[in-house]
Amino acid sequence: MGLIVQKYGGTSVGDLDKIGNVANRIIKTYKAGNDVVVVLSAMSGVTDKLIAMAQKAAEKPDRRELDVLMATGEQTTASLMAMMLIGMGYPAVSLLGHQAEVRTDNAYGNARIVNIGTDRIHQFINGRHIVVIAGFQGAEPNGNITTLGRGGSDTSAAAIAAALQADVCEIYTDVDGIYTADPNICSQARKIEKISYEETLEMASLGAKVLQIRSVEFAKKFNVPVHVRSSFNEEEGTMVMNADAEMERLVVSGVTSDKNEARLTFKKVPDQPGVAAKIFTPLAEASIVVDMIIQTSPTDGHNDITFTVPRGDYERAMAIGEKIVADLGADSIRGKTDIAKVSVIGVGMKNHSGVAAKMFATLAAENINIRLISTSEIRISCVIDEKYAELAVRVLHSAFGLDAE
Ligand code: ADP
Ligand code: ASP
Ligand code: MG
Repeated sequence: MGLIVQKYGGTSVGDLDKIGNVANRIIKTYKAGNDVVVVLSAMSGVTDKLIAMAQKAAEKPDRRELDVLMATGEQTTASLMAMMLIGMGYPAVSLLGHQAEVRTDNAYGNARIVNIGTDRIHQFINGRHIVVIAGFQGAEPNGNITTLGRGGSDTSAAAIAAALQADVCEIYTDVDGIYTADPNICSQARKIEKISYEETLEMASLGAKVLQIRSVEFAKKFNVPVHVRSSFNEEEGTMVMNADAEMERLVVSGVTSDKNEARLTFKKVPDQPGVAAKIFTPLAEASIVVDMIIQTSPTDGHNDITFTVPRGDYERAMAIGEKIVADLGADSIRGKTDIAKVSVIGVGMKNHSGVAAKMFATLAAENINIRLISTSEIRISCVIDEKYAELAVRVLHSAFGLDAE
């Protein structure tokens, strides 16, 4: 018996039947004597539909109002779930983000949770209520509704679990756990039984959307064990936790792909001190996060500077780039959005050589051109043409010995 936070994703609450199945699952945990706090996503597809509607209502929807709109998706599922639980004879109450005192900064559309006041939640728990909280949302200091970025209900759940010092944060989704690669891309992917926060952070930041990256940051910081599992069966999923001796010690433990970046290249930039600052300062001032950067070696006193930005910021980055081409003395700026970043991740890489060489050789064998490379202690990423993303994941998965037997 303990305090359990359960988060159900969009597909798990996709219609009333599914909400009913989830209600039964919640009741089972509750009847076993646990305190249960439930965090819900919107029904699958609803957030996309709301965004599409907003874009029809206004060319550039006001960001405050867009968050008010997007938050309704989670409001719907939370109230329906609480209604259903009450109808089945269990005490339940729904709370919107601000009612659950999820306090955020004011970055509409991508707000960060600053803190969570737990008094109200505790009051309900102490009265043996099942507390159903709308995920993905909070309120900024003036009380305006904010949302936490796509996939943000994971972060709501992890942050609430951390604030309540829950025994576990269960993330229920449409796959059986965290796999060595996206099982919807790589049929040979294997479910990982236990994985460290560190590796999960890398996987989440490199395209494995099974957990939003900030949820893993919260869990790691507050030491909350996260159990990623399916809402459609009873199988044990994947435990995300501090590294322990029993974890599989593979050189590479996962392969990811990410189609959310775009590439820009300044051609023939004079090879002088200060040019990089001239390029990256205005981008930073526009809050555009630059990921990979590569500079060719100079020929005739000039070089090319290529970098990637989130695809959603491509137009803004291009507009800034076009403005500074002349000032830089560069020849031109070019861009490409149909790129993908494929990555291999593993803590075992720290003390192994040859991982990069193997990755490059594997991609070369498929005639896949590598456009950019970046590395950290526990991962290697290559930017390639988008059309090869799935193929690259599969061949790398196989080359690093991860395929299911
Ligand atoms: P939810 O709506 O439950 O939040 P998401 O669609 O956000 O679900 O995340 C689950 C999806 O994440 C899976 O359907 C799968 O396609 C994708 N995914 C990507 N990489 C992985 C991985 N390594 N392991 C498991 N799932 C992954
Ligand atoms: N409904 C939000 C989204 O689609 C949040 C979530 O599902 O986690 O991004
Ligand atoms: Mg999700």
